[in-house]
Amino acid sequence: MKIILLGPPGAGKGTQAKRLAQRLNIPHVSTGDLLRSNVKNGTSLGSKAKSFMEKGLLVPDNLVAEMLNQRLSEKAVMKDFILDGYPRNLSQAKALDQVLEERKTEADIVVYLDTSVPIIIQRLTGRLVCGKCGLNFHATNMPPKKTGICDACQGELYQRSDDKEETVRKRLDVYEQETSSLIKYYADKKKLHHISADEDASVVLNKIIELAQNCNDTLKV
Ligand code: AMP
Repeated sequence: MKIILLGPPGAGKGTQAKRLAQRLNIPHVSTGDLLRSNVKNGTSLGSKAKSFMEKGLLVPDNLVAEMLNQRLSEKAVMKDFILDGYPRNLSQAKALDQVLEERKTEADIVVYLDTSVPIIIQRLTGRLVCGKCGLNFHATNMPPKKTGICDACQGELYQRSDDKEETVRKRLDVYEQETSSLIKYYADKKKLHHISADEDASVVLNKIIELAQNCNDTLKV
């Protein structure tokens, strides 16, 4: 099953993708996570991508495409994936279609997580991420049991440098200018499903699973 999660930054794509990946036993592919890991490990891609990410801008398509295609070529990811953070513009969407077409396959569903600007700002500026396992928390909506420490692996929690309010607003502008056109692109292909992402994360997760099951009744949950 191939699922694409679309939506503005802060809609909960990462949180939902991680939970879905666990529930459905499908690989989670996040271009944001892949880029952050390149930055952390000081790779040449990471050093090229870093300044774009810190400013809330998109990393150039050619840099992201190579990294993504490598991940999509892994055996487990050839068959099933939950794509989070890609595509981010029309040319990425077309490039992805081409890769899938060459493999004689296509995305099964595109889920658009719909939310509003005040909720996005509140979510992102309070977001805390585990430096070890990547689990997300929130300073007030979903605080960890122990301040600054991950409930799951005891790793240290940090705030992403692009989650500062000024950068969040820039990311939202970039989303409007570049990514929002994908809603029409996938709606025209009759693949798009809207889900309100303002509800509790577990409610949103169940709605996505229901959609996925409607599209593939052999899906094991
Ligand atoms: P995310 O974790 O998806 O919010 O992504 C964090 C940052 O990584 C974005 O603000 C971009 O700078 C960069 N990024 C992630 N995915 C892409 C992509 N598909 N194309 C370009 N830049 C990306």
